[in-house]
Amino acid sequence: VFNFAAGPATLPENVLLRAQSELYNWRGCGMSVMEMSHRGKEFSSIIQKAESDLRALLEIPADYAVLFLQGGATSQFAAVPLNLCSPDDPVDYIVTGSWGDKAFKEAQKYCKPNLIWSGKSEKYTKIPSFGDLQQNPEAKYLHICANETIHGVEFKDYPVPKNKGGILVADMSSNFCSKPVDVSKFGIIYAGAQKNVGPSGVTIVIVRKDLLGNAQGITPVMFDYKIHADNNSLYNTPPCYGIYMCGLVFEDLLEQGGLREVEQKNQRKAEILYRAIDESKGFYRCPVEKSVRSLMNVPFTLEKSELEAEFIKEVAKEKMVQLKGHRSVGGMRASIYNAMPLAGVEKLVAFMKDFQARNA
Ligand code: PLP
Repeated sequence: VFNFAAGPATLPENVLLRAQSELYNWRGCGMSVMEMSHRGKEFSSIIQKAESDLRALLEIPADYAVLFLQGGATSQFAAVPLNLCSPDDPVDYIVTGSWGDKAFKEAQKYCKPNLIWSGKSEKYTKIPSFGDLQQNPEAKYLHICANETIHGVEFKDYPVPKNKGGILVADMSSNFCSKPVDVSKFGIIYAGAQKNVGPSGVTIVIVRKDLLGNAQGITPVMFDYKIHADNNSLYNTPPCYGIYMCGLVFEDLLEQGGLREVEQKNQRKAEILYRAIDESKGFYRCPVEKSVRSLMNVPFTLEKSELEAEFIKEVAKEKMVQLKGHRSVGGMRASIYNAMPLAGVEKLVAFMKDFQARNA
């Protein structure tokens, strides 16, 4: 099948086949990666290679730590304020969709977040113009969600943080490693792996090293970035198998030519899908403002909404699955992450045209 799920999501076939071939006996060591001690030399080589390949892919500067954690991006909604501020500190949030909103609400438990822009009244179809933002110079950081998985809204450029530390924090869960990013513009980037780079269970945090070591006293050890950085993500038992899978994906992305190549492929896929929607004369609609449409998650509705259930049923018969929109917004959503081949998007577009011809 072509799997358009928003995450966990499709992974590259060659990566899965390689993992299968190594499942029982990793490179002749007589053990599966699932059976290895996380402190043994075999797993050390796996996590070190995963980190160095990720550093190469994103050109991560040396003054940033890379952490492989658990708990999903949701735990980072709490970990970020716990690590960067005291309970009375102000912080700024821009909310462009449901995930940014969840991050904002969680932060209220640990500091004093200020909502400086929300796209809620326009049903999360926009990104603010940066010049209009009223940032607080006293804020400890400015938080954004770089790509809203449910609403399909993606930052194409990033606001310059006006706070004293110049700290921008981004949830990149659903566009991580989908294109090059200038890491030096950020204080923290975090992402769950389960969309573009691996299975669920691994959460990647890239944090500028000067931000380590200021966690609030109540911070659980599992949320303290410094403890994980000092221990190279091995303070406790990490999600070993998931990290191994991420490592295989990083290798594959490097073999594809790196993130510039990957971005071009992603642009091509998104272009043909949005074009099919826009040229359908209103039969299909994408509510998101054109300039900020996500390359990863493409939400769309049918003008005749009563046909949506039929669309989902028929498209599944053609072996294209998980196209139902998120329960909070309805309609359809095609997630077209790195591992979705062009052929999958072409097949979907051909189906959409045929469905329209039969139902217009
Ligand atoms: N942030 C974004 C942008 C997401 O898409 C998701 C999940 O889909 C999350 C956060 C939450 O991630 P997790 O389920 O790994 O906690």
